[in-house]
Amino acid sequence: MKRHIIIHPDPRLKKECAPVTDLSDSLRQLADDMLETMYAAPGIGLAAPQVGELTRLIVLDCIKDKDDTPRPLIMFNPQVISSSEETNVYEEGCLSIPDQYAEVTRPSEVEVAWIDREGNAQKEAFDGLWATCVQHEIDHLDGKLFIDYLKPLKRQMITRKKVKLKRQRARA
Ligand SMILES: [Zn+2]
Repeated sequence: MKRHIIIHPDPRLKKECAPVTDLSDSLRQLADDMLETMYAAPGIGLAAPQVGELTRLIVLDCIKDKDDTPRPLIMFNPQVISSSEETNVYEEGCLSIPDQYAEVTRPSEVEVAWIDREGNAQKEAFDGLWATCVQHEIDHLDGKLFIDYLKPLKRQMITRKKVKLKRQRARA
């Protein structure tokens, strides 16, 4: 089932999410729903708070070419365990901040540990777009958005636009 994506500004996007302690069927269902929601958007990553669930869960798939095999990843309690000194600049966007893009500098390589859909511990190194995406999504679990890396003026400008968008949508 597709879920509704929350648009910034919203207090739920600024909260620290709680770790998963018991991998229940309802959490697996939430993860599957989030993948469906992400692919439909379309997007390459989605974090649970973006659908109003304050749980440490993200999904991602950075395979953009539709001729390539998809690689949906479900991560419970994802954690960056090491990051490169080398950085990368990517123009980031966010499904909760539609139509706004900005360059963000992050470590170009990160090693991430997480619990998969079956409850197994996983660990993998990511680079390129995958590295940026996984860091962006993990930030969501700590109430952090990509615009928080921007200068205050730019951040305020984007936020004002989204306030206006939400007002328009509420009226429609
Ligand atoms: Zn995002």
